[in-house]
Amino acid sequence: MLSKFERYPLTFGPTPIEKLDRLSTYLGGGVEIYAKREDCNSGLAFGGNKLRKLEYIVPDAIASGADTLVSIGGVQSNHTRMVAATAAKIGMKCRLVQESWVPHEDAVYDRVGNILLSRVMGADVEMVDQGFDIGIRESWENALEDVRAKGGKPYAIPAGASVHKFGGLGFVGFAEEVRAQETEMGFTFDYIIVCTVTGSTHAGMLVGFAKDGRQRKVIGIDASATPEQTKAQVLDIAQKTADLVELGQDITNDDVILNEDYAYPIYGVPSEETKNAIRLCARLEGMITDPVYEGKSMQGMIDLINKGFFPAGSKVLYAHLGGVPAINGYGYAFRNG
Ligand SMILES: *Cc1c(COP(=O)(O)O)cnc(C)c1O
Repeated sequence: MLSKFERYPLTFGPTPIEKLDRLSTYLGGGVEIYAKREDCNSGLAFGGNKLRKLEYIVPDAIASGADTLVSIGGVQSNHTRMVAATAAKIGMKCRLVQESWVPHEDAVYDRVGNILLSRVMGADVEMVDQGFDIGIRESWENALEDVRAKGGKPYAIPAGASVHKFGGLGFVGFAEEVRAQETEMGFTFDYIIVCTVTGSTHAGMLVGFAKDGRQRKVIGIDASATPEQTKAQVLDIAQKTADLVELGQDITNDDVILNEDYAYPIYGVPSEETKNAIRLCARLEGMITDPVYEGKSMQGMIDLINKGFFPAGSKVLYAHLGGVPAINGYGYAFRNG
């Protein structure tokens, strides 16, 4: 589905699929849990899901003659860290707008984790006092204008690399990769769990798994706490991506399965249940998830298993999308482990 698109390699290649035996057993053994380790996908600044997307965006950035990648996210954005690493790797400058998307408790929140790494990688980091919004922001447009005014040539990458014409392609590739791995392993997954916020990870998977009729087996766990906007954005990106790859079938609103139950209390703030899910998975499997994204999808998967949502014998693939550096901004929440 992707052979006609240019791809600039930023990842190591196919990511491993690992069985989470102890977590599966702990949850009753009726469901087999596997994790696809997108968190270990690259040597670029701890990796993560944004790199699959950026692999299809970088050729366009290079072809545009740009000298500066410009992007936006919250203070502890994984995406902006990935853009900073990509800029370093391809020899461009990087300008980042970091907005106040998360009310936080830790005094060091804007000094550690993702933002620390972006600064170390030489990105020009601008702090902006604006709240959470996955849409196109004025602060981002101002940053683009500022780069131009200073004689640079910016290349615009929206929040999460999602609302970009090529933003959905990387996770079409994820689905194709899973299919190839399933052939090797000799079984197929019944469900895929994915954390959803700006939408192109989920959207790309929908298009990729629609090829074998599994788009409604992709269970998005919302972490935005603005699920209406997120769901609309997933559908829009999926439809545009389906056209782009010439899928040959329509993606409809009913294909977007987005569970809204675990994003509380708000984007970027973990509930007690999220923290417990992070601890449980860490203690049984040594697999670390973060308080903003993967902890919420881990909580969602655990809760759905406990509620009997998945029929007995189901094989569930948890897409671990990365994001671990952000946990450094949550030292207070985990001060006692
Ligand atoms: C960005 C991100 C997500 C959400 O992906 P979207 O494509 O924005 O929906 C989930 N987990 C992690 C770790 C992320 O960095």
